Amino acid sequence: MNAGSITPLVSVVTTDLAAITRGRPIPVEHLDKATTGVGWVPANLCLTAFNTISDPNPWGSAGDLRILPDRSARYTTAKTGAATPFDMVMGDIVELDGTPWQGCPRTYLKAALAALKEVSGLTLLVAFEQEFQLVSDAPAAHAFSYEALRRADPFAPMLYAALDEAGVEPEMVLAEYGAHQFEVTHAPAEAMTAADRAVAIREITREVARMLGSRASFAPKPDPNGVGNGVHIHFSFIDAEGRPVTYAPDGPGGLSPVASAFCAGILRHLPAMTVLTAASVPSYLRLKPHSWSSSYTWLAEQDREATLRICPVVSMGGRDRAKQFNLEFRAVDATANPYLALAAIVRAGLSGIESNLPAPPLITGDPSTMSESERAEKGLVRLPETLEAALDAFTANPAVQSWFAPAFVESYIGVRQSEMAFLAGRDMAEVCAIYRTLY
Ligand code: GLU
Ligand code: MG
Repeated sequence: MNAGSITPLVSVVTTDLAAITRGRPIPVEHLDKATTGVGWVPANLCLTAFNTISDPNPWGSAGDLRILPDRSARYTTAKTGAATPFDMVMGDIVELDGTPWQGCPRTYLKAALAALKEVSGLTLLVAFEQEFQLVSDAPAAHAFSYEALRRADPFAPMLYAALDEAGVEPEMVLAEYGAHQFEVTHAPAEAMTAADRAVAIREITREVARMLGSRASFAPKPDPNGVGNGVHIHFSFIDAEGRPVTYAPDGPGGLSPVASAFCAGILRHLPAMTVLTAASVPSYLRLKPHSWSSSYTWLAEQDREATLRICPVVSMGGRDRAKQFNLEFRAVDATANPYLALAAIVRAGLSGIESNLPAPPLITGDPSTMSESERAEKGLVRLPETLEAALDAFTANPAVQSWFAPAFVESYIGVRQSEMAFLAGRDMAEVCAIYRTLY
């Protein structure tokens, strides 16, 4: 294409309660002048995954907002194979006078991270691992196999190049366990950057797949009995001097007191906040025992069934334990907004630090086969088993709701209720088929 025949566009975007990234494009050359951002509409927050607006909602047809681009969060690459560059800049939704809007998910994460820093002096480092399918009716190649990677060629090397150029610091694009399943990871970064990267990675992955005539689906379950697509959020802390402070050689499982209290806070609020990290009806087909996802309020060392997994450290080659040491929160999928999922983790963890909670027990064994009394003794609570139960747990928990403005809570509940109503009466195979095309 003749470069003179196109006007390169950059989209100023927000990611909403249905975890869909939406926004408006402007010519790239206008970006530096776009100090008041692009227009947006309050009720857009109540768009569902099915392109309806939940009704009732607190916003109605009135009002106007702006999405202000955060120029430090711009992701650009000409390597997706599309006719014009992929160009996206993350934005914060503000009122017309520039004050933060009470409905902006990215702003909630910003506030949660600022509160964490103020109370504890800590900065959170995060990396997202995201699983997806390259949707196909063909028989699948073997799990993790070289052939699975090569059948999709040039998908993985193209995706890597595009992610690299976009600046998300990709670490790996790999063939996963499930049929036609892949996973993409990036290097740890400060939490806000990591959430931005999670969004950019999803969209770049979808675009590269599309350009190759395929489709990348991040839906939590390709079908009710298939292998789930998880989003795993790795996290660790550094102090004001940049020193790693998650690890303590004598701590339980190697956890420092502050990391222990943070974990205890997450486990305490987990059932009520699950709706923020697993946001759709099919999410709950994934959160079952023996799915390597998570199903109980459970901290464990190197166990992929736990909700909070203490990750391994490599001791060969004289590598520093403290620098590698991190935890993984596994009860997330791509129908959850990454900013909100992370904001919930931070708010819950911070409440654990503020309450000085003792270290949670390290669980070994399988909670699903323990007796009721054994589970009770270890504080193991089953995560909600349906979206409806998750929403009830959220609605019944004022502490978790208090992390957000009332109109935001109302919007969140409204979107989830509309999605449930849309799916009522459909069997789970049909629900999974619908989500496979949407995410
Ligand atoms: N596919 C699993 C999930 O739904 C995760 C498997 C793994 O440990 O990578 O979370
Ligand atoms: Mg995986």
